[in-house]
Amino acid sequence: MVSPKLYTYPLSTSQNMATAGKVIKCRAAVAWKPNAPLVIEEIEVAPPQENEIRIKVIATGVCHTDLYHLFEGKHEEGFPAVLGHEGAGIVESVGPGVTDFKPGDKVIPLFISQCGDCVFCKCPKTNLCERSWTSVRYGIMSEADSRFTCRGKVILQFMGTSTFSEYTVLNQIAVAKISDDARLDRVCLLGCGISTGYGAAINTAQVTPGSVCAVFGLGAVGLAAVMGCRNAGASRIIAVDINEDKFAKARALGATDFVNPKKHSKPISDVLSDMTNGGVDFSLECVGNVAVMRSALESCAKGWGVSVVVGWTDMADFSARPIQLIAGKTWKGSLFGGFKSKDSVPKLVLDYKSGKINLDEFVTHNMPLEKVNDAIELMKTGGCIRTILDVSPK
Ligand code: NAD
Ligand code: ZN
Repeated sequence: MVSPKLYTYPLSTSQNMATAGKVIKCRAAVAWKPNAPLVIEEIEVAPPQENEIRIKVIATGVCHTDLYHLFEGKHEEGFPAVLGHEGAGIVESVGPGVTDFKPGDKVIPLFISQCGDCVFCKCPKTNLCERSWTSVRYGIMSEADSRFTCRGKVILQFMGTSTFSEYTVLNQIAVAKISDDARLDRVCLLGCGISTGYGAAINTAQVTPGSVCAVFGLGAVGLAAVMGCRNAGASRIIAVDINEDKFAKARALGATDFVNPKKHSKPISDVLSDMTNGGVDFSLECVGNVAVMRSALESCAKGWGVSVVVGWTDMADFSARPIQLIAGKTWKGSLFGGFKSKDSVPKLVLDYKSGKINLDEFVTHNMPLEKVNDAIELMKTGGCIRTILDVSPK
């Protein structure tokens, strides 16, 4: 494991004089091991190194991918870590070589970077970046290097972001600068869930006007996919979830039909086929369950149906009969909604401001960082869409 170098550099007058260049001691929720509650600890956050930015995190959402790492993936090597990847904050200080950010800027940490120089960044067909943790440490879900220590141990930065901490440090290729008047306790959701589901519909599926869509799973990701289908002009959006409490929000965001798979004895793909005279044009899996991924594919129309895997898992293989694809369906996956992160997130913030996308509808709970385990429990039991944690209350 690499230990953080406590690099210091001369203070410039534009830096936050009180803390710039120094180690900051602050509160963070540490996941010491899989399958156990997070512990609020005092951690040390090193100053930003070359090309890095230290951010005071103001607000963060809790996403199912945090729960996946803690309870489902359980990659031992990915601990101890500070979870959280759906945050927004304010630049506290910047390291040498950072020219596009200054203390006081409002920012969103990005779990996929956009370096601008790699083969992926230069290709308009993908939002991957060679310098993202996703390219090198996929199984461990964290950055190889970390700026955090606690009780003498290096604490990993989950998804490179670690927003369940009052301060975090990221390379500037993984930070989006957003407008000064952005509401941080809303736009934090653009750091993951909403951009992911919305982009999966508009960028990856490329939902067309008048089409018939089905969205499986109505957490924030699935509800954002519903919103994407609606904004793309779908004529019918079938919302599928085993928890009927989710249907009201889905209706508010544009769903027209509602299906609870538990209420049907036949396969859900047959139910959808009957409802649509042969299958939907686009389906989006927003659960993270390989059986549901198969159902979503099977629910598509032969000839042209497109099914997008959005839910996150690498715990099991998926399977389907080859005839599904031979018959002309397309099966695709989507990471962060296909958005090139640094370019797109500031624009999505403006889309929220103009009313093109809704974020308020997704926020069902607000809590202080100390209650993070309650927020996790709420998501586990399906009792929330998004809980916003106040990380550094003003
Ligand atoms: P969530 O837990 O809030 O929502 C999941 C929903 O799926 C719940 O409403 C649940 O009732 C429903 N569900 C469970 N089993 C179902 C079934 N068999 N059929 C239909 N619905 C079912 O989660 P979320 O935060 O919205 O995240 C959804 C998924 O997206 C997770 O797997 C998460 O890890 C993944 N994710 C992927 C990316 C990406 O870039 N691809 C990014 C963020 C999140
Ligand atoms: Zn997420």
